[in-house]
Amino acid sequence: MSETKSAAAAPIPMVDLLAEHSVLQPALNDAVLRVIASGSYILGTEVSALEREIAQMVGTRHAVACASGTDALHLALRAAGIGPGDEVITASFTFIGTAEAISYVGATPVFADIEPGTFNLDPASVERLIGPRTCALVPVHLFGQAAECAALAQLCERHGLKMIEDCAQSLGGDWDGRMTGAWGAAGCFSFYPTKNLGAYGDGGILTTDDDVLADTCRVLRSHGSRVRYHHEVLGYNSRLDEIQAAILRVKLPHLDRFSALRAEHAARYRERLEQHSALVMPVEHGNGRHAWHQFTLRLPDSATRDSVIKALAAEKIASMIYYPIPVHRQKVYEHLPAASLPETDRAAEQVLSLPMHPMLSDAQVDRICDVVLRVLRSVGVGRYIR
Ligand SMILES: *Cc1c(COP(=O)(O)O)cnc(C)c1O
Repeated sequence: MSETKSAAAAPIPMVDLLAEHSVLQPALNDAVLRVIASGSYILGTEVSALEREIAQMVGTRHAVACASGTDALHLALRAAGIGPGDEVITASFTFIGTAEAISYVGATPVFADIEPGTFNLDPASVERLIGPRTCALVPVHLFGQAAECAALAQLCERHGLKMIEDCAQSLGGDWDGRMTGAWGAAGCFSFYPTKNLGAYGDGGILTTDDDVLADTCRVLRSHGSRVRYHHEVLGYNSRLDEIQAAILRVKLPHLDRFSALRAEHAARYRERLEQHSALVMPVEHGNGRHAWHQFTLRLPDSATRDSVIKALAAEKIASMIYYPIPVHRQKVYEHLPAASLPETDRAAEQVLSLPMHPMLSDAQVDRICDVVLRVLRSVGVGRYIR
């Protein structure tokens, strides 16, 4: 009894990077030491091998590694020729990096609304915003689930738009068997430590079938240079280092297994929490594999949500609001014309993400669910459905 009690009091973080590290530690140590002994530290054989492995997994001809997910979006948009005067439609219910990349190339982000169930772009909302200056679409595969890839790709085809996918949260996810990152002109992934495939620092990669786009991105990431000290265009310093690539290559073969564990935790959360009428579960569209970067549910209102967050915190259980302020309401974008995005605003008021990582235990998921259900009972919101 006392043993269960002390185990139950242990904190539950959103992600547990040390737990993931400990199961792969010997191989990771070997990889890092191998790179240090090699004397080659930036854009070398490890990076090239990682590029081949990611391209193969996503199913594209090329992958180009760079310094972050935001840089992958920036490089892809620039290589696709998007620039000043262009409008790029994207989501507001996302991380700021999506819109930042659009602004970096001098284009204007135009924010579309989401579908309430999946939190992904609503193709009808996107279509209404297409105008004479629209040049590209940046869908986000939020929380690990593919956006409506077929419908969005069709819209882009019909209106002559380039599609650049934000796959920062969706490595391993697909729509109808075609991976996220293989639908657009480019797919942009992040290796930020807390992403499904995380480095031990920053990193990113973009995937593409377009030989010219891949080549342009390789030149842009390396100071606009193909031959050392010959600079054709204004480029950047956006490289991936060998140690990060070697670490990612150790972790990549485990991604499928880790994704399967995430899916099991999601199923357990769902089974426990869908019993309560005040909780709305994330919708799985069923058109492909969900990478379960986050398990994000809805509560009736932000006051109830605050009560749940407080009760979880009192039990040392983390939870996060992804995202509390939609991008179109951020100060940095207050100069843009006001957008009316009712579903985005409503999601920001209601969503709560619960701890999600491969190493969660069933007991931890149960403990989290118990707290959530207890709070709803105590504030008298909703009821048990079964
Ligand atoms: C993490 C993330 C990014 C940015 O990736 P970085 O590697 O942190 O630059 C962009 N878009 C989304 C949706 C993300 O989750």
